[in-house]
Amino acid sequence: MKAEETGHQIQRIVQCQVLWDKQSRDFYSVDASSYVVKPLAIVFPRNEKEIIKILRFASKNNIPVTPRGAGTGLVGSALGNGIILDLKHFDKIRVYSNYVQVDSGVFKGILDKKLEENGKFFGPDPSVGPYCTIGGMIATNASGGHSLKYGSTIDNLIEVRIITSSGKAINLPSKSQFDNKILKMIKPSIQKKFPFVSKNSCGYRLDKITKTTDLHKIIAGSEGTLGIIISAKLKILPLPKKKTLIILSYKNLEQAVIDSAKIVKLKPSALELIDKNIIERIKFDFPSDTGCLLFVEFDSNLVKSMIDLDKTITDAKIIKTLTKKKEITKWWNIRNSALGFSLRSITSKQSLPTLIEDATVSVEKLVLLVNIIKKISKKYKLDVITYGHAGNGNLHIRPIMKRKNKKLVKKIATEFFSKVLEIGGSITGEHGDGLARSEFVKLQYGNEVYSVFKKIKLEFDPKNILNPDKIITSKSNMTKNRKI
Ligand SMILES: Cc1cc2nc3c(=O)[nH]c(=O)nc-3n(C[C@H](O)[C@H](O)[C@H](O)COP(=O)(O)OP(=O)(O)OC[C@H]3O[C@@H](n4cnc5c(N)ncnc54)[C@H](O)[C@@H]3O)c2cc1C
Repeated sequence: MKAEETGHQIQRIVQCQVLWDKQSRDFYSVDASSYVVKPLAIVFPRNEKEIIKILRFASKNNIPVTPRGAGTGLVGSALGNGIILDLKHFDKIRVYSNYVQVDSGVFKGILDKKLEENGKFFGPDPSVGPYCTIGGMIATNASGGHSLKYGSTIDNLIEVRIITSSGKAINLPSKSQFDNKILKMIKPSIQKKFPFVSKNSCGYRLDKITKTTDLHKIIAGSEGTLGIIISAKLKILPLPKKKTLIILSYKNLEQAVIDSAKIVKLKPSALELIDKNIIERIKFDFPSDTGCLLFVEFDSNLVKSMIDLDKTITDAKIIKTLTKKKEITKWWNIRNSALGFSLRSITSKQSLPTLIEDATVSVEKLVLLVNIIKKISKKYKLDVITYGHAGNGNLHIRPIMKRKNKKLVKKIATEFFSKVLEIGGSITGEHGDGLARSEFVKLQYGNEVYSVFKKIKLEFDPKNILNPDKIITSKSNMTKNRKI
């Protein structure tokens, strides 16, 4: 079906806004990734009934449906060639004493503000800050600097309401036959095949589901492939009374990551890293031998933690000890702008492809990950920018490459992913599989786990209309439709 016909037909069945003009289709053909995929139509449903009607229409006509939040995803997971469902009208928030009931289209920044008024916060804090939505965070199992202490989205998800592709609204966990059926597929032998890492956004997180009351966790990281997220009940916590942020300067990455494994034992609330390429762009007089910075934050036992940190670090200089909220926020903004600083360090003929940007290993193995990066950088004669969530063993690695060198992109990714898996890691700790990595999900988990993923997808979406080719795919999409 062509765009115009699709748009007209949808407009006949729903009252809400439907767009299919060229400009809107172009706008929704991109997100924060390197891909371009043009949809047929974009729909802005205002209630569940409209979503159900659209899903039934899509199912009958075999048209893919891709839910979309803010489009800040980095791997093309919010792009699709069928109908885009923009959930922006699902925007309600109700704050309770230890949880919040929130609609999927709510922006993280709006939620943060509302929670702050109530003296509370939601733990996972992606570096993109206020600009992503709760639906997108759940669907990618997003996390951030403070996930070291407060976990990823999956760890803070209490319940979720979704609409499946057949147009059925369900709350998970539902304590129904359906939950039991899914649970039966998840044998302990399957769970043993999951990597031992603190963050993982690859595939469906079956390792987090041991009883029927965990069933909602299957939606975290499912990238719109199992259902349209309507709303969720999320865990919230009282805002910490005081914080201390310490910034450490290291001569090199290796020493910083070796120390990271020791620093995490002091239970900081965050432990983040930026390398020399980024440091060079920050307006501050760092010691001349600075090759890498660690940001270490504590939000409890402040005095003891500082004494312990002093005893733990080796060959590092403390360049800042911050206790004032304004100063702490300023330096976190600097850390969170790492991708922006990185982009400023390349020329118009170069790119920083999103491909190997999100591997996670156990923090003790970070030094091995750094060695893998070094070898790849040497072999392919590429400079590499590195930053990220050191405390979680999750580094964002950005090789500086010539634009449109697609063959090399794939070669490097394949090599890098096998090495990461050899040391027991995950190919993605927070950004997900999307167009960039879905073809590698089987490589990470093997045939047995992958076949369970396929069975689960079939239960939720028998006609494969929900965001097809994300997570489960037989296609190679990594270099297809890539603009850089
Ligand atoms: C500068 C920058 C920094 C970033 N830093 C981090 C970081 O620190 N940590 C991190 O985890 N991520 C990070 N990201 C990635 C991204 O911001 C997160 O993945 C974010 O959670 C995506 O939210 P979104 O609303 O933009 O989702 P989108 O990009 O719109 O969608 C992402 C996925 O969610 C699905 N989805 C969206 N809404 C729904 C719904 N209602 N129902 C079902 N599925 C849905 C989409 O289909 C898609 O598969 C960063 C991105 C940028 C650009």
